[in-house]
Amino acid sequence: MRVLNCLTHEHDPLLVLLAALVCLFGSSVTIRLAHRSLHARGSTGLHWLFLTSVCAGFSIWSTHFIAMLGYRPGVPVRFDATLTIVSALIAIGGTAIGLILARLRGRLSSALCGGGMIGLAICVMHYVGMFAYRPDGVVHWLPGYVAFSALCAMGFSAIAIDRLRAKRATAMGRAWDATLLLMAAILILHFVGMAAFVVIPIEGFGKGANSEVFSAMAAAIAVAAVVIVGTGVSTHLVEESRAEAQDRLRQLALHDMLTGLCNRYSFVTQLSDECELLVRHGQAFAVLMIDLDRFKAINDTLGHPVGDLLLKSVAQRLRRVARGGDLIARIGGDEFAIIAREIAGREAARNLAEEIVEALSCPFMLDGYVAEIGASVGVTLAPTDSSDAETLTQQADVALYRAKHEGRGRTCLFDPSLTRKMLERCALENELRLAWSNRSIEVAFQPIFDLRSARFTGAEALLRWHSPTRGEVPPGVFIPVAEELGLICAVGEMVLQTACAAAVKWPADLAVSVNVSPIQIMSGGLLDVVRNALDSSGLSPARLAIEITETSLLGDDEVVLRTLRELRELGLTITLDDFGTGYSSLGYLHRFPIDRIKIDRSFIASLPGDSSTASIVRAICQLGANLQLDVTAEGIENDAQLAFVAVNGCTHVQGFLLSAPLEACTVALLFDEQRQSFSAQQSAGDAFPASDHLVSIGAR
Ligand code: C2E
Ligand code: MG
Ligand code: MG
Repeated sequence: MRVLNCLTHEHDPLLVLLAALVCLFGSSVTIRLAHRSLHARGSTGLHWLFLTSVCAGFSIWSTHFIAMLGYRPGVPVRFDATLTIVSALIAIGGTAIGLILARLRGRLSSALCGGGMIGLAICVMHYVGMFAYRPDGVVHWLPGYVAFSALCAMGFSAIAIDRLRAKRATAMGRAWDATLLLMAAILILHFVGMAAFVVIPIEGFGKGANSEVFSAMAAAIAVAAVVIVGTGVSTHLVEESRAEAQDRLRQLALHDMLTGLCNRYSFVTQLSDECELLVRHGQAFAVLMIDLDRFKAINDTLGHPVGDLLLKSVAQRLRRVARGGDLIARIGGDEFAIIAREIAGREAARNLAEEIVEALSCPFMLDGYVAEIGASVGVTLAPTDSSDAETLTQQADVALYRAKHEGRGRTCLFDPSLTRKMLERCALENELRLAWSNRSIEVAFQPIFDLRSARFTGAEALLRWHSPTRGEVPPGVFIPVAEELGLICAVGEMVLQTACAAAVKWPADLAVSVNVSPIQIMSGGLLDVVRNALDSSGLSPARLAIEITETSLLGDDEVVLRTLRELRELGLTITLDDFGTGYSSLGYLHRFPIDRIKIDRSFIASLPGDSSTASIVRAICQLGANLQLDVTAEGIENDAQLAFVAVNGCTHVQGFLLSAPLEACTVALLFDEQRQSFSAQQSAGDAFPASDHLVSIGAR
């Protein structure tokens, strides 16, 4: 009641309002600065501490003095300048100590010590300020009000500090609760304190204060308050924009600029965080590695801007497929990764991976182009497969490698046997590279026998790799690896050079046949390689045949057709190898320039007993006869097979019965021997040598 009476009857309402406004503004800025001071460390923390104390000190001080100027004790008043300044220093210093104490670890001790100290500073500042206030009268204090005012100041300040500490470093918001609590501490202290202050006028002393001096002082205090608080505000705003810039930098550092997804760095750090959480909470998750199929082709043919659009669309589709809490990252050019949090198990992870493959296999409409890509996904699960971030990444990579290897557009879940297979594969790749650089990959020649002339008419060049650790490695095993390593064109060139150089030493009517990989044909450089091999050896093109497989003809590629035509025009013979194992479309026999077909040895193997393969072989021979193509049967191992293919119209045969693949010098001897025996037989009028004789030649 006395407080209300003092406020309404003994104060100028306008100055009270001004004091309240200064207090509100000052408290708001002080709280924002204090928040930074509490959460900043090192020299930055000191910088904020200083600013906060100055701002808080002057806010408290100016509130007090503006309100004091509005106080009408009914007697003239003077101010003690020294005590007035000391009171301001007390407010600043006390707040500084309070803020240091507010950094104490425990929440309660921080609030009680820090907040209590700030409340005490407000209190001491007020009462020292009151001693600077010298009314011409007898001053009387009411101790109950003094004690109550001090308690209120300390209590409200303590709660304000507690509220402030509860706010996270990054989430300040407006913190109105703390602001109002601090304001309450200052204003309640002041007005309860004023109720404790009683002035009894002394008879005979002059009435009325010097109002002009008072108004000038009020204006000066207000200006000082605005300048100081303004400094605080502008510092705060500068800091705010710096923090925003830092946020933007953080965003750039952690995200991929093109797609807006997380980048490799944030993927790695988040995966480590996830592994740490795993240890504490055991929350399962999956890591999915996604690689786009055919992205490079789109990028190369349609250009980089379209490639960029494609990557953005891929990111959008991934966002659509992924679940709420999943982390999606672009970790390389066309590689993406997902951390699928709280996944139910292997099946759920597999389903997610399949959904991704499905989503990315639908055509993309990009700037008027339609792009069809696909994706392969490798998946690993934590903690089932591992709880270590690096291991999980490797496992997901291994699974991805496997998925791609199985034919793209697939998903593969990691299992430990994959690592072993991958290590084996890596070892094979390394050994092959070494063998190639050591020139330990050689060429053998398997003679081809013409059933019509009953003579060898040439040989097929076949790659041979004798590894010191693995023994004889079949070409069927290492050629696909050479293709993947990008070695096949160089290896193929070596075979062509070696084959031509060997054949040129054979009798002039014998030819050499060389297998070429689809990659060599599609590279577009085969014609030049063949020309070089012929030129450097001096072999006539008519004595060189190339063997292609049906895979080369798939897709009706323009380059393949042109290359084959040009090779044919050059004078080479073109053989379609492994006939019957491919894609059952016979249309290409017309479209492509083919001279000879070779029945695959898998058909010959079950001859003559198996009636269905016998029919197939018969049909192929018939087809060859009708299209006027030579037909070679490869893999002839016994007389029955030889007899069957001979009766059914095969023109050529090749197989262990006649000869196994031989070294270059041995095959040259064989051909020389044949020439000599043939001329001897011709002069003696003998028939062609029996097959048992051929076997004995081959065995040598
Ligand atoms: P291909 O072109 O069909 O070669 C014939 C394969 O049958 C050879 O296997 C040969 O050793 C084998 N062979 C010959 N006679 C018989 C027989 O009576 N019984 C059995 N069971 N097999 C017989 P090889 O040397 O293991 O070659 C396998 C495949 O590797 C070749 O099949 C060919 O596709 C590929 N290849 C070999 N050399 C080269 C090369 O220089 N370049 C390319 N691109 N591929 C090659
Ligand atoms: Mg062949
Ligand atoms: Mg073959």
